[in-house]
Amino acid sequence: MVRINENFLKLKAGYLFPEIARRVSAFADANPDADVIKLGIGDVTEPLPAAVTAAMHTAVDELSDRDSFHGYGPEQGYAFLREPIAEHDYKARGVNVSADEIFISDGSKCDTGNILDILGEGNRVAITDPVYPVYVDTNVMVGNTGTANEAGQFANLTYLPVTEANNFVADLPSDPVDVIYLCYPNNPTGTVATRETLQNWVNYARENGSLILFDAAYEAFISDDSIPHSIFEIDGARECAIEFRSFSKNVGFTGVRCAFTVVPKELSVTASCGTEVSLHQLWNRRQSTKFNGASYVVQKGAAAAYTEEGREQVRGLIDFYMTNARLLREGLESLGVRVFGGVNAPYVWLGTPDGLSSWDFFDRLLEKGHLVGTPGSGFGAAGEGYFRLSAFNSRKNVEAALERFKSAVG
Ligand SMILES: *Cc1c(COP(=O)(O)O)cnc(C)c1O
Repeated sequence: MVRINENFLKLKAGYLFPEIARRVSAFADANPDADVIKLGIGDVTEPLPAAVTAAMHTAVDELSDRDSFHGYGPEQGYAFLREPIAEHDYKARGVNVSADEIFISDGSKCDTGNILDILGEGNRVAITDPVYPVYVDTNVMVGNTGTANEAGQFANLTYLPVTEANNFVADLPSDPVDVIYLCYPNNPTGTVATRETLQNWVNYARENGSLILFDAAYEAFISDDSIPHSIFEIDGARECAIEFRSFSKNVGFTGVRCAFTVVPKELSVTASCGTEVSLHQLWNRRQSTKFNGASYVVQKGAAAAYTEEGREQVRGLIDFYMTNARLLREGLESLGVRVFGGVNAPYVWLGTPDGLSSWDFFDRLLEKGHLVGTPGSGFGAAGEGYFRLSAFNSRKNVEAALERFKSAVG
């Protein structure tokens, strides 16, 4: 008899995006002429930077010639990509991360899930609420939680609410936790963590022997110079943190797939036998066994994002999306809506007007404005009463959406 991993049975059936799709399609059936604008999706819309596609074309040509052909590459990624990452993303900001601490992969979603392979059973895990659902579901899958209650909260998981009440800064856990997921700039709230907030977390982690899993997928969108881009800008973080970064949102690689994970060599955990074990070595072992490296062509494309031309073009993409974010933020503020985020992140987080629930506001926006966003409650119980808008869209759609907000919330 085959046994399945019964932890999967505890998962809430992928509820949020299917429910949005169901409501949008019911509305479209009833209103076949309505032109619905979607501001709900966390996917990029603009084409890849020219420097990146040129490098990928060249790489494809190399593969068609026997003399420049490449088969399997290093599981950890090519030096031609790891070195510019170390140089531009870390050294240029005065951060100590070496190329051999950078593990190239095909996505941060996979890396944030796969990291649980090297952690043991029974870790007490803390997440902020609302949260990127991947952190929760991957912990459910490996058995780190109990079952979910009515509100969708899982037993044995420590939820740290982030709302207006605490200015979107989570309180440190009252009971000790072993693993802490932090995502800054944050999806879904679009808020950031100051140096002081991150230092408090690093101090907490070092005092309690906990591990911080830091998701910096949106670091390139930071415009405020005082906000750290990396957890490794914080003193002591090399002894307690792993960082995840992705080319998905800044370079537009959601469909191309390339990301990386930084595991410092100082980071170690005491095994039950008393031996100090290096997490860098464990992750290297895990990747060498279960992963055969990201595609050569894709890594060549990612490396081109670090050339002078590439950096300028990536800057252009980020500026484009952040202008969308600013237009959304300012337009909604002028309508009297409570608006958060959207300054250092491509997401704008709204307090729903008139005390509406997240889903009631969703319905009102769809019916009155033919607009789709994401109900905050779909990201966690503490997201109730909030709503996420994404700046990943065409300028035309953002401008049209702002006109429509006037009738829906004005
Ligand atoms: C988009 C996103 C990522 C990137 O995931 P990829 O698998 O690299 O595309 C990671 N974390 C968060 C919070 C995200 O929103």
